[in-house]
Amino acid sequence: MPELPEVTTVARILNREIKNLTITDSMIFYTKLLKNVDVAGFKAAVKNQKILEVTNQAKYIVIKLENHVLISHLRMEGKWMIEEPELYSYDQKHLEAQLVLSNGKFARYYDTRKFGTLELYTSETYQNSPSLAKLGPIPGEIRATAEYLYGKTQRSRKAIKTVLLDQTVIAGLGNIYVNEVLFATKIHPEQPANTMTLQDCENLMQASTKILTKAIELGGTTIHTFKSSVEVEGNYQEHLKVHLRAGQECVNCGFKIAKNFVNGRGTYYCPNCQIFKK
Ligand SMILES: [Zn+2]
Repeated sequence: MPELPEVTTVARILNREIKNLTITDSMIFYTKLLKNVDVAGFKAAVKNQKILEVTNQAKYIVIKLENHVLISHLRMEGKWMIEEPELYSYDQKHLEAQLVLSNGKFARYYDTRKFGTLELYTSETYQNSPSLAKLGPIPGEIRATAEYLYGKTQRSRKAIKTVLLDQTVIAGLGNIYVNEVLFATKIHPEQPANTMTLQDCENLMQASTKILTKAIELGGTTIHTFKSSVEVEGNYQEHLKVHLRAGQECVNCGFKIAKNFVNGRGTYYCPNCQIFKK
């Protein structure tokens, strides 16, 4: 599943490849991809629209057109590819949508799991869309302070890992990076959120910012089949200290990395460095 660094990488690649091109036509092959508009409405809205910019807000890819904004969420396996018309990077049965571009290329959206979504808003309303409006601050943003996180944690007895994964609390931490952040801060993943101190929250924000920044620099993490684009693979997997390392030695203390499940998500931690505080 792509997380913030991988989505940021995808958005940067798309921006480089399709910014300033015009969408001359579009086809939707899997209508459930569209969440808040029908096929005819979508086609009419994007036709002859110039692509002004592609960015991301947390894990949402934001494609800004002249009058409209497309918001794409890749979920598990969604992929945007910029291709020559006759060259398909993936099996065509996974092709859900394509935008015909003014340079003769196609922007194609493939999704083997069919969980991804595409929404259409006007330029004036997209920031108020349910997807974006509820997002919490991204680590590194001005409003992502230790005090802010402390306020959120004190109201919850859920596992700190679950709270950090809640995109309305902090946007951008997914399962891989939250495992790494908790290891870096020596906090047990199941520690109740309301036992966090202000110092813990300071450490969590700092570690989140540092780890996400580094991962974005490296183009994200390549695990399983995820690639940001055809030729691009992230390299952060070489920096992972606990994620997917169950049974291997902790880089700090040599203890064996453990794995359990918190809220159904694979959780890796060092039982010696990340001691559960009673
Ligand atoms: Zn350790």
